[in-house]
Amino acid sequence: MVRSKGEDAAALRQLMARTEQARERPLRVLFSTRQRMVRGSFVVLGKKCGKAGCVCRRGQLHPTRYLWASEQGRTRMVYVSAAQAAAVKAGAERYQRFRRARAELVKLSARTVALADRLQQALTDALAVTVAGQKEEGGGGEGRTSSGGRASHRR
Ligand SMILES: [Zn+2]
Repeated sequence: MVRSKGEDAAALRQLMARTEQARERPLRVLFSTRQRMVRGSFVVLGKKCGKAGCVCRRGQLHPTRYLWASEQGRTRMVYVSAAQAAAVKAGAERYQRFRRARAELVKLSARTVALADRLQQALTDALAVTVAGQKEEGGGGEGRTSSGGRASHRR
């Protein structure tokens, strides 16, 4: 058997354990979200009204609330009334927080899988098998390493 001269398995296990522990925080965000969410981002933009002589004509724009959301690849901006503002803002913030936590979970999951692959490599030995048709290295006296006769006597 050819022992892999790879990474330190213990160190990799430790890294994996730490990565899994880090899932706690984003998971808590997902589990603790109980109220309804609003998909999109709440934004306040300065707008000009149509009235002649209004202060907005001199640069004092009217703060106007919108919900930005992408739909089928296109960005949509929906007007939010003053009455809706607080609820929409809170709902959108919950949504953003939820999405960030989800993205964090995706990142951590990918890291765990990558670490699992490295751990597998660190723990796996390769059998030195002579494959049919493959030239043996060295050509030295010890003979073939494969146990079965099937592959080794073909040529
Ligand atoms: Zn105005």
